[in-house]
Amino acid sequence: MTAEGLVAALLADTGDEDWPARVPNRLDSVLAALPRPARAGVHTAVAALETYAVLRTGRRLATLDPDARESLLGSLAARPRLVPLLDLLKVPVMLAACTERMPTAPLAVTAPEDPPLDCTPAQEWPTRSTADVVVVGSGAGGAVAARTFARAGLSVVVLEEGAHHSTASFGRRAPLDRFTELYRDGGATVAVGNPPLLLPVGRAVGGTTVVNSGTCYRTPEHVLGRWSSAYGFRLAESFGPRLDEIERTLRVATQPLDVLGNNGLLALAGAERLGWRAGPLRRNAPGCKGSCQCVVGCPTGAKQSVQLSVLPDACAAGARIVTGARVRRILLDHDGPGAPRAAGVQARRPDGSELEILGPLVVTAAGALQTPPLLRRSGLGGHPRLGRNLSVHPATSVAGRFAEPVTAWKGVLQSAGVEELHDRGVLIEATASPPGMGSFVLPGLGRELRSELEDADHLATLGAMIADRPSGRVQGRDRTLVRYDLDPRDGDRLMTAVRAMGRLLLAAGAEEILTGLPFAPRARSLDELDELLTRTTARNLHLSAFHPTGTAAAGADPRRAPADPEGRLRGAHGVLVADGSVLPSCPQVNPQLSIMAAALAISETWMEREG
Ligand SMILES: Cc1cc2nc3c(=O)[nH]c(=O)nc-3n(C[C@H](O)[C@H](O)[C@H](O)COP(=O)(O)OP(=O)(O)OC[C@H]3O[C@@H](n4cnc5c(N)ncnc54)[C@H](O)[C@@H]3O)c2cc1C
Ligand code: SF4
Repeated sequence: MTAEGLVAALLADTGDEDWPARVPNRLDSVLAALPRPARAGVHTAVAALETYAVLRTGRRLATLDPDARESLLGSLAARPRLVPLLDLLKVPVMLAACTERMPTAPLAVTAPEDPPLDCTPAQEWPTRSTADVVVVGSGAGGAVAARTFARAGLSVVVLEEGAHHSTASFGRRAPLDRFTELYRDGGATVAVGNPPLLLPVGRAVGGTTVVNSGTCYRTPEHVLGRWSSAYGFRLAESFGPRLDEIERTLRVATQPLDVLGNNGLLALAGAERLGWRAGPLRRNAPGCKGSCQCVVGCPTGAKQSVQLSVLPDACAAGARIVTGARVRRILLDHDGPGAPRAAGVQARRPDGSELEILGPLVVTAAGALQTPPLLRRSGLGGHPRLGRNLSVHPATSVAGRFAEPVTAWKGVLQSAGVEELHDRGVLIEATASPPGMGSFVLPGLGRELRSELEDADHLATLGAMIADRPSGRVQGRDRTLVRYDLDPRDGDRLMTAVRAMGRLLLAAGAEEILTGLPFAPRARSLDELDELLTRTTARNLHLSAFHPTGTAAAGADPRRAPADPEGRLRGAHGVLVADGSVLPSCPQVNPQLSIMAAALAISETWMEREG
């Protein structure tokens, strides 16, 4: 099934320019990277659209003239129930369209050589081997745990399902190709719910840190206090020096203004006019060149994702990484004192063959969406709260149209933080993205959408995430199913966030606000925005989330927390949880430092007790 008709209709293609004709092929490559159900959904929608065209006009979409296609789209858009569906279809089409319309020029910088890692593809790793510690997952948490144990003199093997990508390889490949490769499910992981949430996570050596924005917030003191006093996660009391240590490793510093770019500068100007607390973000990207590609792998090597910072330290201390190895289950020894005890892991290579690494300590650091299914596959899924307690920091975006070009994608991808509403659970961050890859969905269909696309360099975009209640759960053993039901109070926070972002952009001089709401897409003043917001609810927002946490939480209450206060999985000996799952509740700020500090605390405490 080709989507030529859909693309021609959505982009109001008149044949005057070359690039729209290349979009269907590009779209095919985007769809090929999606999980089968998402791909099937798009194909079904395309088929339904074609059937509608034939029934109404007797012809397929691609053979209609532009006016007829426009009128067909108009008749569909007049049916309110179809508007959100059409908006969803736009997402992959815009990804492909922006890539073809604005191909990214190669950067005029030579990628530096990456610090060495000891990586071995799973095909070349022996079928049976041993280690003192086996770490599942090489992301934020796994990297830090591996480094601690390797530095303590233990033999450490890290198993990573994804591949290793060098900085130089990022510079050689188009952003879209990296996008579909570096994320699980081609970036289309979805939490089912009302509304559904896009919940992308990374899959590569370095985990999600490879594709994150590099923003570094320390865990707020009030959150640490709550983790310790309300959940009994006492290790939180020792986070201070551990956060210092992580910040040193990641070389965290406030982003200098000169590379921020217009997107961040406009956010700061708006905040200054309103008298709001704001500033350039602290990031782990010394020497950042403002290429705005953090979410598809930094092509300059500036961003200190863990494969450039923590993992090289771990490998220098003797840790080894096996790539392309999906851990199927943790092996257990059911005999003897303290049983069941961890005995190693069994993993699958890309060709389907299996390997085993035997060892007495297994660290699960597969991320908050993958750790619960892994534990279930291992026969360790008995705790009733495993997979529950999922927080994600739901996020939404708003754009402002400015008279002068903004060219938001020239500068730092996530550049400025506006903390005025943070004590009400709303954190605003000026976030641009490579064209088409942002979570902001341009309004309109056909000619309206095309004109928005052509004017996109006049848009500045802000994103806001909210501190949410744990409203989700991760189900499944072999296939992960994520469910997230937005709490109505969190919905209200999101609406507060939309209004605040609109207000900020207007204060910065925006002539128009694009709300991202399908039924109320534009406002030219705060009064208009307020009026629009009274007519809609958060359920109509396009929501994304980037920070899953809490699904195997640590805590003192054995009924509520699958892991004990020191991150040891309850019900088995020798299994530590050291990734986003272990956090007792959402950290209320971008979580990578919190996850790394937790992994450091858990692994160091294990060494103190048992090493
Ligand atoms: C687009 C985006 C931007 C972000 N920006 C920021 C930011 O600016 N600042 C911030 O603080 N946070 C940010 N985050 C979030 C942050 O990067 C993550 O919270 C953090 O990396 C999670 O760490 P983790 O250890 O839980 O898992 P991950 O870093 O996701 O690592 C888990 C690893 O385990 C591997 N794995 C999973 N299952 C298996 C298995 N069965 N066998 C072997 N390997 C397996 C995965 O492939 C993955 O590599 C962002 C996230 C996204 C998606
Ligand atoms: S904006 Fe991001 S991708 Fe670009 S140089 Fe800076 S850290 Fe790297």
